[in-house]
Amino acid sequence: MDKNLFYTSKNLRLSGSLSQGRLHLEMQVLINFVNTKNLPNTYLFLKKHFPSVLKTECFNEDNLNFEKEVRSTEIGHLFEHIFIDVLCFEKIKFGFNEAVFNGRTFWNWKRDAFGKFHIYVDIKNEDGIFLGGAFTKTIGLLEQILESNKFFSTDKNFLPVEID
Ligand SMILES: [Zn+2]
Repeated sequence: MDKNLFYTSKNLRLSGSLSQGRLHLEMQVLINFVNTKNLPNTYLFLKKHFPSVLKTECFNEDNLNFEKEVRSTEIGHLFEHIFIDVLCFEKIKFGFNEAVFNGRTFWNWKRDAFGKFHIYVDIKNEDGIFLGGAFTKTIGLLEQILESNKFFSTDKNFLPVEID
């Protein structure tokens, strides 16, 4: 099975590799903002199309639950939460009784290009089969979120998102 993941569009570039039980996704956001506060339709989109992600656990400095956090968080962190929730869905759909995945997201734009995220998710061997499907579905959701924000942004620097 191919454990190398890759995706590119006008909006995002992602590559991922799995090694020693840990998936490392590198995500480069190509639109000119990197936080959901510039994507004001994000919360409503998720509430309507993927509400379970709003209930996912989040460990952050301010102790905000993800339902609050999602209104003002980095796009890489949003991706991490959706990806983990989709992984859980895929695993349960497959027949497992429960599913738990842990992830975290880092960025350092002094070292990396602006908008680059490093997303890490712990993946046990038995869960490798869910990676490809979850990757594709998460990207689909994120592209839809960006599309759904095209007309809502109040950011004067907003670059219209175009989906191929
Ligand atoms: Zn979180």
